[in-house]
Formats: sequence, C-alpha cells, structure tokens
Amino acid sequence: MQKIISQYFNEFSTMSEASHTAVVEIAEREGIEMDKIILATSFCFDELNHHQAKMKLPITQGTFIMGGLAGFPFVGEIGLTAFADHIPDNGAALFIFGSHIGISASGEVGKVKRVGQHRHTNTCGALMLVQEHVLSSSVHKIDPVDHSGFQAEFLALRLSPMASEIRKSEVPILKTTHLVYDEIENEILKLIINSKNLQGDFPIYILGGIVINTDETLPNYFSQKVFRKVR
Ligand SMILES: [Zn+2]
Repeated sequence: MQKIISQYFNEFSTMSEASHTAVVEIAEREGIEMDKIILATSFCFDELNHHQAKMKLPITQGTFIMGGLAGFPFVGEIGLTAFADHIPDNGAALFIFGSHIGISASGEVGKVKRVGQHRHTNTCGALMLVQEHVLSSSVHKIDPVDHSGFQAEFLALRLSPMASEIRKSEVPILKTTHLVYDEIENEILKLIINSKNLQGDFPIYILGGIVINTDETLPNYFSQKVFRKVR
C-alpha cells in the first residue's frame, strides 16, 4: 500500500503515527501531561475519518468536531468560542485538520473499498460532486431560502476561481484535494487568530495534512503539511 501511496505523496505516515508524534512533542515542549491536550478536528463527515481503528487519534476525552463537507471548518466563530471553554486547566489545544482522498489497494485515486461493500466508491465523494459542479458551466447560485445545500455551494464558490487549474491537472481530484486543504488551513488559522475567546494563557498547535483513506480495514495515512505552534 505504501508503494502505491508514494506515487502521489512524497511524505506520509499513518494517521496514528502523525497524531501521536504531535501530541508527544507538545507534551514535552510544554512540560504537560498528554491528557492535558484537547483535540479539535476538522475532517470531512465521512465515517472513514472518524473511525477510531483507522485513525487511532491519541484521545482520552473525545474530540471537538469542527469539520463539515470536505473537512472545511463550518463551525465558525461560535463553534470556536464553545471549544475555547473546553481547554483543560494548564493545558493546550491541538487542531488536527485536512482534506481527504481515497487510494485503493489496486491504485485507483479517489476510490476506496469500504467494509461490507463489493465495489469501490468515490472518496471524498462530496468533494468530487463539488468539483463536478465547479467544472461545469452552470451558474453557481445559492437559494437564500433553502440552506440545505449551502456547504457544497460555499465550497464550489471558493474553488471556482481555480477551475482551470483543476481542469489542467493530471489527476483533477488530487489537485482539488490539495486546493481545498489550503482553504481549510487558511480558515482554521483565521479562526484561531481572530477568536477573542482563544486568547487565554494556553498554547495552541496545529497539525494539518491530507488524510489518505485506504481499503477496508487498512489504516488511514496522513501526508503532513504543517505542524507548528500558533502561539
Ligand atoms: Zn469526504
């Protein structure tokens, strides 16, 4: 599996290794216990990104879920204000986030075989539909009365300026996955920096990258793009 993934990602480890390394490093640097670090995640709804056996996040008390469609943190300022209240005393906060893409054991990009199915399905299925929309010639319109599709429409609007870049790329969904990652990272940083309620006396770290989902019971991998202290 690693050989197949390495055709598309230069560096990656399992999600478990990446998140454990980050938590251990934060605990050492800050001189605190690991259970003083609260996790907020921003990953796509897809159950593969919230499957404990595939993710193995180093959590003792659950994670605060910020992610909506494709992993974009749709919780906004209000969600972050709620999270700010949950930081353990003398503890730290770690935001783990990213977009995701399936790579099947047979090497198909954007596909994965899920437990209980005999076929491969699109992963990230939502982002593929958004991409289809972005690359289509139809006008992007948001119906002000019907909010049910707003997350997909919002992402389509964000990605629309990059339509030609996506169209030109060798593997469009891989390109879109990287582009939506950038949108997620920028939004998370903006939320953290602008949140008055996150200005307390505790360190904040970010760990971002692309989650690579693989077939059935294989683990999720993670191609890390950033790990750093924000403040
Ligand atoms: Zn998804």
